[in-house]
Amino acid sequence: MTRISVVLAHAPCMDRQGQRYTTSITNLDVHDIARSARSYDFAAFYIVTPVLAQQQMAEAVIGFWETTGHQRNPDRHEALQRARVVATIEDAIAAETTAMGEKPWVLATSAKHQGALRWPDARQKLHSVPRAMILFGTGHGLHADALALADDIVTPILGEADYNHLSVRSAAAICFDRLCGDPNE
Ligand code: SAM
Repeated sequence: MTRISVVLAHAPCMDRQGQRYTTSITNLDVHDIARSARSYDFAAFYIVTPVLAQQQMAEAVIGFWETTGHQRNPDRHEALQRARVVATIEDAIAAETTAMGEKPWVLATSAKHQGALRWPDARQKLHSVPRAMILFGTGHGLHADALALADDIVTPILGEADYNHLSVRSAAAICFDRLCGDPNE
């Protein structure tokens, strides 16, 4: 079975001018992606930020659910148990490589037409490798320097409309189901 991890990158992302940018952590993204990732039994959820104060904030959120929040909401505790804060995407890749002895296949996502790998092919590939990492951006999406760390970029999630600007937590849930959902459901 493939060991799957998820990365939510706040850097290097893009601002509205397409310049390299570090975004701020959104509390909801952390909770919701952790819960979605746990629902598909992914092994780890890496929250990437190089900003020390942001790292401390994310650690505090995770810490709350490890301690005080555990009694109040064990389900949320269980989801956030798999969350880790790291400074860079490279650190997340290195952590998975060290833990598992082999670099994961890294799949990046984008709302733009930057990727050529179609969803059925991404699904097949993901289940054929020993470890895989799914990479999400924030702000105006992953910067080219982040995309360069990926082995593949999947085509954007599209509906029927000419609008596909999803929040990262919605995109993550759809992506997880396309890649790992029960095909018979
Ligand atoms: N314009 C940005 C872009 O090109 O990705 C949208 C950024 S969106 C607020 C934050 C992240 O959510 C993206 O970096 C991507 O990981 C994910 N995302 C949002 N919409 C998506 C879509 N339609 N298809 C795939 N991923 C999407």
